[in-house]
Amino acid sequence: MADDVKKVWRERDRVTRAITKDGFFRAAVIHNTAVVQTAQSNHSLNGVATIALGRALTGASLMASFLKGEERIALMFSGDGPVKSIYAEAIQVGEVRGYATLNDDPAESVSALGKGLLKVQRVLYGKMEPSTGIVELKRGDVTSDLGHYLTQSEQIPSAFVFDIAFDENDVVRQSVGCLIQAMPGARPEDIFKVYDTIDYLERLTEFADRGYDTKQILQQIMPSDINITATAPVDFFCRCSLSKFKGVLVTLGVGELESMRAQGHNELVCQYCNKKYHLDNSDFDELREQILAIRN
Ligand SMILES: [Zn+2]
Repeated sequence: MADDVKKVWRERDRVTRAITKDGFFRAAVIHNTAVVQTAQSNHSLNGVATIALGRALTGASLMASFLKGEERIALMFSGDGPVKSIYAEAIQVGEVRGYATLNDDPAESVSALGKGLLKVQRVLYGKMEPSTGIVELKRGDVTSDLGHYLTQSEQIPSAFVFDIAFDENDVVRQSVGCLIQAMPGARPEDIFKVYDTIDYLERLTEFADRGYDTKQILQQIMPSDINITATAPVDFFCRCSLSKFKGVLVTLGVGELESMRAQGHNELVCQYCNKKYHLDNSDFDELREQILAIRN
């Protein structure tokens, strides 16, 4: 048993997609403990923010799993509750990143975000502009907001289940999520049956604790026999780099750059992953030369 448990812990995060054999429902299940652990530790988040951001990252990965290649989805939540904003961005090939900010003076709220807005942006192949939808938050708990968004704005009856479990030190121990969507032709009574099933489902992290993989979890929660359509690893991964930051800094004037140097503002922090980069004197010299070259 101990060996089994260790094996589960070493497994890489993964998302798996399936469709019922009758074609009326599709679903994706993700086991992304490392992603949510990374988000919690990179951004030093409290429990409420970890759950809210963890759900958003999980939701973004699940929605991205139905996209193609480097197509991208970004979820932006803003609220007046304890959590002020959440950003979660994922691409189909398994990268996901994001952050959460807290309200200094939150409104009284039973949910993490309280009242506010959800903006969903998709960058798709063959479309010049990203497609964007905005809705008011339904409950501010991320789960209902995302389900409501897909059902109302995109007219696809959809339900999310997110489950994040913590250890005795309040560190994320397990994270599992699923998205179920009705396909055209699904009967309303079957859709209600699916909603009913997931309402009474045991905690998804308990399946993971027992060593079930994403495919086995899908088989537990889907209403009928399924065909697995895809499975892929997922990582918390940010494409930031020192050279990308420098690419932004060359748009400054020489005066601004030199005042940064003089004031010792040499630390750059990526808001998405909280990675820190340091500029040394030779970086400042190089940027100065590049700026001067561009201006000439
Ligand atoms: Zn980054």
